[in-house]
Amino acid sequence: MSKVEIGRLAGVLRATLGAEQVIDDRARLRTYECDGLAQYRVVPALVVLPHTAEECALVVRACVAANVPFVARGSGTGLSGGALPHADGVLIVTSRLRAITELAPDDERAVVEPGVINLAVTRAAAPHGYYYAPDPSSQQICSIGGNVAENSGGAHCLKYGFTTNHVLGLQVVTPDGDLVRLGGWAPDSPGYDLVGAFVGSEGTLGIATEVTVRLVRSPESVRTLLAAFPGTDAAGAATSAIIAAGVVPAAVEMMDALAIEAAEAAVHCGYPAGAGAVLIVELDGPTAEVDAQFAQVERLCRDNAAFEIRIAADDAERALFWKGRKSAFAAVGRISPDYIVQDGVIPRTALPEVLRRIGELAAERGIRVANVFHAGDGNLHPLVLFDDAIEGQAERAEELSGAILDLCVAYGGSITGEHGVGMDKAKYLPRMYTDDDLDTMQLLRCAFDPRGLANPGKIFPTPRLCGEVPGRRKGAHPLQEAGLAEVF
Ligand SMILES: Cc1cc2nc3c(=O)[nH]c(=O)nc-3n(C[C@H](O)[C@H](O)[C@H](O)COP(=O)(O)OP(=O)(O)OC[C@H]3O[C@@H](n4cnc5c(N)ncnc54)[C@H](O)[C@@H]3O)c2cc1C
Repeated sequence: MSKVEIGRLAGVLRATLGAEQVIDDRARLRTYECDGLAQYRVVPALVVLPHTAEECALVVRACVAANVPFVARGSGTGLSGGALPHADGVLIVTSRLRAITELAPDDERAVVEPGVINLAVTRAAAPHGYYYAPDPSSQQICSIGGNVAENSGGAHCLKYGFTTNHVLGLQVVTPDGDLVRLGGWAPDSPGYDLVGAFVGSEGTLGIATEVTVRLVRSPESVRTLLAAFPGTDAAGAATSAIIAAGVVPAAVEMMDALAIEAAEAAVHCGYPAGAGAVLIVELDGPTAEVDAQFAQVERLCRDNAAFEIRIAADDAERALFWKGRKSAFAAVGRISPDYIVQDGVIPRTALPEVLRRIGELAAERGIRVANVFHAGDGNLHPLVLFDDAIEGQAERAEELSGAILDLCVAYGGSITGEHGVGMDKAKYLPRMYTDDDLDTMQLLRCAFDPRGLANPGKIFPTPRLCGEVPGRRKGAHPLQEAGLAEVF
C-alpha cells in the first residue's frame, strides 16, 4: 500500500472512529511489530483499536473496500507469529473490547468480549463457585479472543479439554465485514459446527467480537503432589501408569533436569535436589474421590522409581510447586541467552522414547534442550537453547527444532499442541498433511474469506492463498473453476 493509500484509509477510519483509535505514527506502530515470537518483526501500516463489535466490523469493511489485509491481535502473547502484522495491512487490536457482558453461573455460562483476559473470567466467576477451565500459562495476560483463535490449552486441559470444549457461541466479524452469530447458549447447535471451525482458525476466518464460554463448578477438593524421579524415563512411565490405572488428574506436568535448573535459578522453587525429572500431579473433584485416587497416584509414582514425594500442605505450598513450572519458559533465559520454545504432541506412551531421542538429536548437534511440558496429554515443549552470538548455533537450533517436529509426526503426533501454526510453522504443515488435505482446508478458508484478506500468510505454506496454485497441483484451483475465487 502506498503512503497516499494508507493516509486515505487512516482518514476514513479517523472520520468514523475517535482519532486516538487510529495509529499511524511509525514509533507507536513499532509497539505492535511482533507477538511473543519476537524473531519475526513487521511494522504494520496502521493499527486500529475498536471499542465495540460494530467498530470492528466497520474497520474490516474499510479494509475490504480498500482491498487491504487485516490481522487481529489480542494481547500479543502468541508463540507462533499468528498476530504478526502485515506490512501493507491493518492490525486490529481488541484490547479495548474488555467487558464481561454476562455472567450466568446458574446456567454455567459467561459472555465476554474478545479482549477480556483469560484469568479475569475465573476471577469474576469465583465468588459464585465457578471458574473458566482452560488455563494457558500466560493466563494473566492473554485474551479470550486469542485463546479462541489458537484453541489454547493449559495444564488443566488434560481433564477438562481445550478452549474448543468451552466455547459455545461466538459473535464474529466475517472477512466481508458482516457481524454474524455462530452457535449460542445451548450445548450444541444444529447444522455444521461453525463454532468448531472458527476455534483454532488463528484469525483467518474473521474476528471474534463476543464469546459465550462454559463455566465449570469449582472443585470441592484439590490436592497436589510433586514427585522427583531419577530421569524422564521413570517420570514418563509413571505418567502412563497413572492414566492406565483409570485416574484422570486435573494436571500432570513434567520438567527435566535442565528445566529444573533454570526454574531454580529464576524463582528458587526448592524442588528436590538431584532430580533428573519432576512431575507435578494435581487431582480435583469430590473430596472422597480425590483422597482415594491421590493415594493411588502416590503409589504409582513410587512404583516407578520416585525417590521423593512432597504433598502440598496448603495453597501456599501448592503455589510454590506451580511457581517453578509456570515460570519455566521465561526462566530458561537464566541459563541460555537465546532459545526456541517448541510445541509438539506425541502419544503419551511414547514419552520416554521420544525424550531420549530428542536428547540424542540435541547431542549430535551440540545443542542443549530443556523439557517442560504437559505430560498427561503428551504435549511437549522442548526449549532449544542456543547463543546467537556463536556463529552457526541459531541455524543448528532451528534445524534441531524442525527435527523434533519430524519426530513428533513420526510417532503419530502433531507439529503443534496449543501454540498454533501461525507464521512460524506454516512451512511444517506439509509434513503432516498431503496437498489434498491442505486444499480441502483451503476450501473452508476461502468459503469464509475468498479475498484472502484475513491474516494472510499464516497457517498455510505460501503460495496457498485463495485461488493460488501451490505445490504439485497443476491447472486451476477448484475454487477458481467454481467461480468462487480468482488469482490475484
Ligand atoms: C509465557 C507464555 C506462556 C504460554 N503458555 C501457553 C500455554 O500454556 N498454553 C497455550 O495454549 N498457549 C500458551 N502461550 C501462547 C499464548 O499465550 C496463547 O496462544 C494465547 O491464546 C494468545 O492469546 P493473545 O491474546 O496473546 O493472542 P495474540 O497473540 O494477540 O493472537 C494470537 C492469534 O489469535 C488471533 N486473534 C487474536 N484475537 C482474535 C480475535 N478476537 N478473533 C480472531 N482471531 C484473533 C491473532 O490473529 C493470532 O493469529 C504462552 C505464551 C507465553 C508468552
